[in-house]
Amino acid sequence: MHYVIGVGSNLGDAPASVRRAMHDVEEGLEAIDARRSSLYRTSPVGGPEQPDFVNAVLVLESEMAPAAALEVMQGIEQRAGRVRDVRWGPRTLDLDIVAVGDASDYVVSEDPVLTLPHPRAHERAFVLIPWREIEPEASLPGVGPIAAVIEAGFDDQDIEVLVEEGT
Ligand code: ATP
Ligand code: MG
Ligand code: MG
Repeated sequence: MHYVIGVGSNLGDAPASVRRAMHDVEEGLEAIDARRSSLYRTSPVGGPEQPDFVNAVLVLESEMAPAAALEVMQGIEQRAGRVRDVRWGPRTLDLDIVAVGDASDYVVSEDPVLTLPHPRAHERAFVLIPWREIEPEASLPGVGPIAAVIEAGFDDQDIEVLVEEGT
């Protein structure tokens, strides 16, 4: 299955956490092929006042079922010291499944334990802009091409490349 995974951190050494997490997810999901976006500095969206985030998107191929993949990712979050208290609050690591399936036919699920595609991905610059960098033709079911969503604009969402991919 094709996985699109959003990675974020805004506590501790956020760039290092994001890089390590991408490596750990590739290993944990036994990725056959993986591509990483650049690291982006982004302003927080929702939640309390908190430090800027470092975000990236990872795409990979894995045989693992989505529920099992989510468990693996939650284990990686825990090992990175993730504490869940304030909703959308600061965190050492957040790993979300943005979309999974056949890239032209993503799985759609309303299950609150694993909602697919991620229900807020389409409104988040910090997800769509890194994703477009590595998959410019990508589309979200019920939303359309992500490039069109980005071109339509995001209000008050500030994002810039922090570390270019491959450096
Ligand atoms: P947001 O979902 O708005 O990005 P968040 O990432 O901070 O917020 P978490 O505390 O990481 O939220 O996750 C809360 C719950 O969301 C998890 O326990 C998980 O079961 C559920 N969840 C539902 N859909 C997904 C998904 N596509 N990817 C990751 N977690 C999901
Ligand atoms: Mg999240
Ligand atoms: Mg999450």
